[in-house]
Amino acid sequence: MRISDTRLSAAEAARTRVLLPLPLADVYDYRPPEGERVSPGDFVRVPLGNREVVGVVWDAANVPSEVPEARLKSVIARLDCPTMPESLRRTIDWVATYTLAPLGNVLRMAMSVPDALEPARSRIALVGGGAPPPRLTEARKRVLAVAQSGGPRTVRELAEEAGVSDGVVRELAAAGSLKSVALPPEQPFAAPDPKHTGPVLSDEQRVAAEALVTAVEAQQFGVTLLEGVTGAGKTEVYFEAIAAALRQGRECLILVPEIALTVQWFDRFIARFGVRPAVWHSDVSTRERRRTWRAIAEGRVPVLVGARSSLFLPFSRLGVIIVDEEHDSSFKQEEMVTYHARDMAIVRSRAAGCPVVLVSATPSLETVLNAQRGRYRHLQLQARHGDAQLPAITLLDMRREGLPAGRWISAALAAELKRTLSAGEQALLFLNRRGYAPLTLCRACGHRLQCPNCQAWLVEHRHTNRLHCHHCDFTSAVPTECPSCHAEGRFAACGPGVERLAEEVAALLPEARCLVMASDTIVGPEAIADVIRRITAREVDVIIGTQIVAKGHHFPFLTLVGVVDADLGLAGGDLRAAERTFQLLSQVAGRAGRAERPGQVYLQTYMPDHGVMAALASGDRSRFVAQELAARQSQGMPPFGRLAALIVSGENEARVDRGALALRQLAPREPGVTVLGPAPAPLALLRGRHRRRLLVKASRDFPIQPMLRAWRDRVRLPAAVRLQIDVDPYSFL
Ligand code: ADP
Ligand code: ZN
Repeated sequence: MRISDTRLSAAEAARTRVLLPLPLADVYDYRPPEGERVSPGDFVRVPLGNREVVGVVWDAANVPSEVPEARLKSVIARLDCPTMPESLRRTIDWVATYTLAPLGNVLRMAMSVPDALEPARSRIALVGGGAPPPRLTEARKRVLAVAQSGGPRTVRELAEEAGVSDGVVRELAAAGSLKSVALPPEQPFAAPDPKHTGPVLSDEQRVAAEALVTAVEAQQFGVTLLEGVTGAGKTEVYFEAIAAALRQGRECLILVPEIALTVQWFDRFIARFGVRPAVWHSDVSTRERRRTWRAIAEGRVPVLVGARSSLFLPFSRLGVIIVDEEHDSSFKQEEMVTYHARDMAIVRSRAAGCPVVLVSATPSLETVLNAQRGRYRHLQLQARHGDAQLPAITLLDMRREGLPAGRWISAALAAELKRTLSAGEQALLFLNRRGYAPLTLCRACGHRLQCPNCQAWLVEHRHTNRLHCHHCDFTSAVPTECPSCHAEGRFAACGPGVERLAEEVAALLPEARCLVMASDTIVGPEAIADVIRRITAREVDVIIGTQIVAKGHHFPFLTLVGVVDADLGLAGGDLRAAERTFQLLSQVAGRAGRAERPGQVYLQTYMPDHGVMAALASGDRSRFVAQELAARQSQGMPPFGRLAALIVSGENEARVDRGALALRQLAPREPGVTVLGPAPAPLALLRGRHRRRLLVKASRDFPIQPMLRAWRDRVRLPAAVRLQIDVDPYSFL
């Protein structure tokens, strides 16, 4: 059958372009569904090969299509779900272009709860306690055990928790072993009340808050840096921006680096607005994610606080985005799509036409430079709230301390610990190293216990009594004999981790109540909430912690902070090592003396003359920032230049080397662009994959993405060798 030209172009116009949440760079063409109009942002079910997939109608109208009309398959149905907002679609486009990730992979982050795309089904769920099933398989046993504990759950939830397929659960329901019960209607999200209580702001807090309120009321895109020392009341100030957005009936999104650590933040939010905000992070249950996602899509969530992934939630009336602790490196996602949530928050707010506020006591140099150049508005809080003073920071020169082997607490720090405890106050010892000892070696032959999958030492953990790799899942029992020389019982633990430090404190201060706080000893939001309660209730004298204690906490009786190894983060030659060390140590130091009692901070260092230590001791952050910026500028490094890392990896080392060389040979030769490498990545073996790295350096205004894309498309890599591109890398592993 021949179709006339005019009909052809009409049909052409009637093509529906659909983006699928799969690792695909392009949209697919479909015929619109029978008798229904679909428009960009609609969620649709479409055929793909012999399965059905849900995707989103994408506005890619001008892309010429190669698929002839006759071969097009039809959209099966439009889902009964609100349209994906334009601002989110534009953000997805932007993230894909910027990071070089396939567009479909970025969409996948915005469709992380497929269940929520269907309207709430009849609210039926299953509980245990029915007749025993005819045949009790292992899988069935697990489902029944799961169903016995906890409340009613849907088929999917039970299947997920028991680790079985949906079918197993359905069979049990059909056999009457699981009973159906009606669920109460879903709880709506409570509305935070901007008038609930207002704090009495200090003069400088009020000036900053008013500037934010004005920005929110203008309902225009703009970036503001809210900078203020630890304890200055930045949270109280940005709460006023949230109140302003709420008054306008708009939505607020607050990004925080680690939501589990924000227990106290919630209390303050409730005190200010009367209710809890919605939350979004990986520990939220499947059902709660479904409820939250759907409510956001329907415009029923006024305030949400979440991890970086909440940037991809379907808000349609954003009034403000806040990025708290904007300098925190956990905003950078390293797997799948390598994006930086702070940068993409700016993209999202520009697309949404609302202001974004970056909050930090130690803003990243990227942000500082943008503020200096007038691209961002800059608000500053100079003083701690109330009568609280910033703590005094003293350097302890460890070259003079002469510590005995196996000890890490200097006499000076030990004396301060004793003094603090006898005054009835609390102390924090900070060491950013989990476990007991970072290295175990054989005293007979010098063999070091190493991970079989990574170029990394195994770390002894006493609380599990095993060796762990901190880069992959590998663990093993502590061997009794050396795998190299077979000597028995000759292992020595080298260096301290927090667990070992706890032993030293126990020996120094036998009466002290110690608490080790690390991400592997205190797991999950409840455990963290509990230890925070115990510290606040003064059931703990000495906290020994990794970076999880550095963030945000407010402990009024904590007056001493001792940093056991202040130099730790400076090793390794990472571009941002000095900046990050300064940020982390300022944040740790900021835990001391936040209330009436003044705080003292001691930094144990072998490099007291290092710029970071000197700046911390003198409290002169601006000088440090100026020096660091000057150094970066002279090297053409970020934030003055741009970087992209290309990691070539695979299980076969020879092929990885060949791949890296092939990439190098086709490297673009453009003025202003330097390609370094290939070199073994610092972790040259990671999770069983060999890794080589090339680094691309370009001037700041050089359009790096088109160049990288063209380069990538030219290269043929050997089989089973993967290329990963990281634009603006933060991790140099
Ligand atoms: P930052 O985030 O700048 O480190 P916070 O917002 O955590 O500082 O404030 C530090 C402490 O001071 C908190 O306990 C907070 O409740 C209190 N605070 C700050 N500003 C005020 C204010 N205007 N009125 C009452 N308490 C305040
Ligand atoms: Zn490993």
